[in-house]
Amino acid sequence: MSAYHPLTEQEAIEIASTLDGFFPSGANLSSREIGDGNLNLVFHITDSVSGKSLIMKQALPYAKVVGESWPLTLDRARIESEKLLLEGELAPGLVPVVYKYDPELYLTIMEDLSDHVIMRQGLIGGTRYPKFADDISTFIARTLFFTSDLGMNQQEKKLQVKAFINPELCKITEDLIFDDPYTDSPNNSFDPAIRDAAEALWQNEQLHLEVAILRDKFLTNAQALLHGDLHTGSVFVTPESTKVIDPEFAYYGPIGFDIGAVIANLLLNFAGQEHWITDAGQRADFRQYLTDTVRDVWNLFDRKFRALWQEQGLDRLASSTPAFKDYYMQRLLQDTIGFAGCKIVRRIVGLSHVVDIDRIPDSAAKEKAQRLALAIGTSLILSNRKAQSIEEVIDIALSQA
Ligand code: ADP
Ligand code: MG
Ligand code: MG
Ligand code: MG
Repeated sequence: MSAYHPLTEQEAIEIASTLDGFFPSGANLSSREIGDGNLNLVFHITDSVSGKSLIMKQALPYAKVVGESWPLTLDRARIESEKLLLEGELAPGLVPVVYKYDPELYLTIMEDLSDHVIMRQGLIGGTRYPKFADDISTFIARTLFFTSDLGMNQQEKKLQVKAFINPELCKITEDLIFDDPYTDSPNNSFDPAIRDAAEALWQNEQLHLEVAILRDKFLTNAQALLHGDLHTGSVFVTPESTKVIDPEFAYYGPIGFDIGAVIANLLLNFAGQEHWITDAGQRADFRQYLTDTVRDVWNLFDRKFRALWQEQGLDRLASSTPAFKDYYMQRLLQDTIGFAGCKIVRRIVGLSHVVDIDRIPDSAAKEKAQRLALAIGTSLILSNRKAQSIEEVIDIALSQA
């Protein structure tokens, strides 16, 4: 069974039963494939005798996009498992435990987090997650600081950059986020009701300049080892716990891209609340919770990253030059805002959308939410290089709503 092929549920059970010491003898295993099937298989294996369970994620050699398949390297499964292990060391408790990686089958066997919910679903349901900002800021501060030239031996870092070269998944991001939405690309997918707003993106040269600058940073700025796909569908939560999954897009890129992804997805939910919460007062309250979370994520990240730098900085000149720290953190804020804007725009006009907005059944509410998200996204992009404070993001969101 070791040569690569997509596993059946029965084969998944056979592999799970050989995992040393995990399931007791006499286990009665069953398997269910629970992934959405676009890029990967995800098997949920449970033992009805002991109640123990695990997850097996296997990469498929293609991505299914609008009915067609496009070949995609299986090596991303290695990258995902290595990144999960590294995250587990740098940010203990904030990722699933990896039990085993099988390099022939491109298969990661990991902790079952089914007692958590995918954050995007939770937010659509109006649930608040009081630990999220603290946990995710710890996750991003520690995983990014300790893989950057500030917190890692700079020669080792260069070798690590090599181990996380991820050209095919980067190309997806480069095309779908930093190119297609700004031109009349066949890869775009948008609601005909907002065609005028999409066309406005294609004409806006000021916007193209800012996106080209951000795209250039994504292409060239190997600042730290990113998660690379840190949206609210990659975060499992309960009110007490946060677990980040799915780092198959990991590569060395600009730090603001990960933080921007978190903020963008909070603001996409903000826009989607046009529909999900019907009572105006409750909607305003939940939107304030979301913008408070945006503020907390940035401020806690800023504080934690600076503290790590203060206590564990390895670069002598950078660490002993306070004005450089301020320069660096301001640049991170500006990048975060610009990347957040790009991540919002692509979810409205580009190929891949978010259910916070796409599942809105009422077409008028959906159109309003889409226009709101686009207005927020483009304002963030246009203002990124001038930004001085995270408060500007919150002002942009609240003033458009
Ligand atoms: P993909 O890369 O295909 O998006 P994900 O890693 O995001 O795959 O997983 C897809 C889905 O599988 C998740 O949304 C979640 O429902 C389920 N899943 C993935 N990992 C786990 C886990 N460790 N525990 C429980 N469910 C999981
Ligand atoms: Mg994925
Ligand atoms: Mg995913
Ligand atoms: Mg779509």
